[in-house]
Amino acid sequence: MQFYKDGFRGGNPDIKEAAPNRRNRGVNEPLPEKVDVLIAGTGPAGLCLAAQLAQYPDIETMIVERMPANIIKGKADGINTRTMEMFQAFGFADKVKRETYWVNQTAFWMPDPARPEHIKRVGRVQDVADDSSEMPHILINQARLHELFLEVMRNSASRLEPDYGWEVVGLTIDPTTDDYPVTVTLKDATGINWWATRTVRANYVVGCDGAHSAVRKAIGGELHGDAAHQAWGVMDILANTDFPDVRQKCLISSASEGNVLIIPREGGYVFRMYVELDKLRPDEKAAHRKFTQEDMIAAANRIIRPYSLDVKEIVWWSIYDIGHSITDKFDDVSAGENRNPRVFTAGDACHTHSPKAGQGMNVSMQDTFNLGWKLIHVLQGRADASLLRSYSKERLTEAKRLVETDHAWARIMSAPTTQAERDGTEEPRIIRQFKQNLEFTGGTAVKYDTSYLFAAPTHQALATGEEIGRRFHSAPVVRLSDAKQMQLGHIAEADARWRIYAFAAKADGSSAGSAIHKLADWLENDADSPVVKYRRTGDDIDAVIDVRAVFQQTFEQLAYEDMPSLLRPRTGKLGLQDHEKVFCVDHKGAGDIFDLRGIDRERGCMIVVRPDQYVANVLPLDGYRPLADYFAAILR
Ligand SMILES: Cc1cc2nc3c(=O)[nH]c(=O)nc-3n(C[C@H](O)[C@H](O)[C@H](O)COP(=O)(O)OP(=O)(O)OC[C@H]3O[C@@H](n4cnc5c(N)ncnc54)[C@H](O)[C@@H]3O)c2cc1C
Repeated sequence: MQFYKDGFRGGNPDIKEAAPNRRNRGVNEPLPEKVDVLIAGTGPAGLCLAAQLAQYPDIETMIVERMPANIIKGKADGINTRTMEMFQAFGFADKVKRETYWVNQTAFWMPDPARPEHIKRVGRVQDVADDSSEMPHILINQARLHELFLEVMRNSASRLEPDYGWEVVGLTIDPTTDDYPVTVTLKDATGINWWATRTVRANYVVGCDGAHSAVRKAIGGELHGDAAHQAWGVMDILANTDFPDVRQKCLISSASEGNVLIIPREGGYVFRMYVELDKLRPDEKAAHRKFTQEDMIAAANRIIRPYSLDVKEIVWWSIYDIGHSITDKFDDVSAGENRNPRVFTAGDACHTHSPKAGQGMNVSMQDTFNLGWKLIHVLQGRADASLLRSYSKERLTEAKRLVETDHAWARIMSAPTTQAERDGTEEPRIIRQFKQNLEFTGGTAVKYDTSYLFAAPTHQALATGEEIGRRFHSAPVVRLSDAKQMQLGHIAEADARWRIYAFAAKADGSSAGSAIHKLADWLENDADSPVVKYRRTGDDIDAVIDVRAVFQQTFEQLAYEDMPSLLRPRTGKLGLQDHEKVFCVDHKGAGDIFDLRGIDRERGCMIVVRPDQYVANVLPLDGYRPLADYFAAILR
């Protein structure tokens, strides 16, 4: 974490200096007439977007929520490793790691062949494969997660706060203007303003307003999907039980009473149970059956026999039926139309799935992490508005993959066990599928297709473990200036900046005339260099593209004073030298990043990483022309 760049300020460094133009807030303050971005909904999708935009006080952002305040409990709780990597960029991953339950092992229980009315443990699977991510898979109450994003917003230069109690009831788009073309109608949902309606004009609107999204409906989007006609209950409880694995994630299948999923939660006592209830008729909804908390507890006790559950307190509960659905576009542009989008949907507003694969919150936030930097680039004039077309394309493909995988998983969860599985002669399908899905459920399987944003894999052999289209996979390094052992990926903040990681060849210790020196000099001085070309007067040299170098030598073998000036830039109001751009391999045994990520030791390489942490290009260290061409297609 770097701070004091623009001068010393005491106090909490997470609290940024407030921008002078921030809005006055309070129930009696008027709503703004015009904003750059209006976000509907303060779920994970909306807050993740708002937390990014809040860092830019020059972008007027408004986030409206029909409820009067943040939720206090319930809903989703699973945060996969990829989302934790993203939290690192927002600065609260360590806080989350401290507070939460870490899913290390998942246990599987099935009917005991000797006494089929009883369950028996049949296997355990490591939940996060070694070196799949430096982050744990964790469980946290969704309300707490909201608070962490709200804190980032509140501490930002914009001091952004949601406008609670306002519901989006409709919107229109004026295609004849670029001047705040979307008019959003808001209705007071709490009565504080006598149920009045107001209109706000926006340049862009993002509907993060959940499965019944008013924004989606306003742009003609429909959710298409199907239902498994199976009622499930979910309860967060404080309870005692003689079931031995209650502090592990457990998938439990009984012979004839259905299935239970146990999700231990933060704090050491509370846990969640998903309990399979009755099959539904095709025309029936779970809500029609009027299941009660007692029905759920009784079903759980039948399923986990010979063990039992003594519930002391029900913290939260809900009944639902499994459904999967998706819209055919995530923006307001219809097939065949050649224009740039103005309205987007994200999260549950455009795809819904079964909660048990724990993907809902994760995918929702990943949607808006994809959209955030694109909106910032366009609104700051750094990219053409056509960049926004890539959002729907990239995320729709991912959402379809999610719905398909989730579909298969939900079916397997509800399927009866076979005789071979019960006899132990065949590994249960549920365990096989679980292992197959691990990369997917960790969120690290996402791979975007080749496009102008993701280069063809011409030079992929230079970094086999950093695949173009997939997220940049962090690995340990040591910072040269102060010998700090750290993860290379942790330098990336949610700040809409691009990163170029230059990995030096074996013999290159940054002597004058070496490939790293030549690259750094070209990047710093040549008129064609993207660092030079997209830098505005007054910008720091790393304002848009942040260049870092990693050497194969250990800490003792390199001299900081030999580094090129681009890697020791002077930035900020005071022109202070930045000492944190150069790294070497970890000499303390945590692993060699060149080996771990398949970086070519003889030639080295450059890895270009998008602001949302996806590998966009892999190039040789002298690939100046292709690097310039890559950025020329995106930035202006
Ligand atoms: C009752 C319930 C239980 C759930 N349980 C689980 C679970 O057990 N496990 C799991 O993984 N997932 C669960 N989910 C799903 C999970 O919460 C979502 O996948 C995740 O929250 C999606 O985030 P989101 O931001 O897209 O939408 P949401 O979290 O749904 O947020 C949408 C927000 O928009 C607001 N809103 C809606 N309409 C408007 C409007 N017109 N104007 C202004 N604001 C509006 C809503 O009040 C809400 O705050 C549950 C969802 C619900 C509703």
